[in-house]
Amino acid sequence: MRIPLFALILAILPATASAQQLANRLFGAHPMPSLQGPEAIGSYAKGCAAGLVRLPETGPTWQAMRLSRNRNWGHPEAISYVQDLSRKAVQIGWNGLYIGDISQPRGGPMTSGHASHQIGLDIDIWMLPPRRLNLSAAERESISSISVRTEDQRSVNSNWSRQHHELLRQAALDPRVDRIFVAAAVKIEMCKTATRADTPWLQKIRPAVGHNYHFHVRLRCPQGNRNCVTQSPTVAELSNGGNGCDETLQWWVTDFLNPPRRERTEEPAPRQRHPREYTMADLPAQCQQVLASN
Ligand SMILES: [Zn+2]
Repeated sequence: MRIPLFALILAILPATASAQQLANRLFGAHPMPSLQGPEAIGSYAKGCAAGLVRLPETGPTWQAMRLSRNRNWGHPEAISYVQDLSRKAVQIGWNGLYIGDISQPRGGPMTSGHASHQIGLDIDIWMLPPRRLNLSAAERESISSISVRTEDQRSVNSNWSRQHHELLRQAALDPRVDRIFVAAAVKIEMCKTATRADTPWLQKIRPAVGHNYHFHVRLRCPQGNRNCVTQSPTVAELSNGGNGCDETLQWWVTDFLNPPRRERTEEPAPRQRHPREYTMADLPAQCQQVLASN
């Protein structure tokens, strides 16, 4: 007798979920960081973080947004990066930066949203130039960022400015940065004026789905964090030593806007588990101590 697939799934799901608690519940329940030395553990989408510090909710050149999420925690290197970049934002004519999600107090998989942001080294920065830096907590929940891309996703819109370009350039020039995710339309726009001198930083700017309301900075593993896993392939490998502009266009036109049709005989791609489904067994063993620490 054939058992319908959904019946099988229903039969299996409750058993596995109760056998092992989901990691995102455990990490999501901690309001404070672990009392340990700062360390990024594991990889950006499968890990946790010890000794994170909080980005102050308001500083002279930044405000953290959506405070209710309690995701303004990062590795000390990420926090100083944000503060440094916000000062550069002032130099290019903005009032500063509105900062979106970084990590939960102990990193780890999140209860909603991002697959990554787990090790205190991923930072979302709003495309909206701050009008003021004295927003109330309530305003920080209700204000929305702006999209810098057209509805058809093919190009940047009138919200895009020279300052956005300069801010992203400054963001990528920093040696602490591994890569920055932006909407493909943004990268393609930035490629229009690219010279050879732009190559080292422009290759770090990578096209990604979404990322039109914010850009996403990913820092390298901090020195001495031996349990931190760098992302592979590296940006240099991805862009073949060039600035990545050709690859971006190709990815965008062929894979995203016109995804290649699968042959009938081809096996369906195996479903990848989302980090929300991870249990502690999926994460590096050190994450147990991060959870257990005071
Ligand atoms: Zn992000």
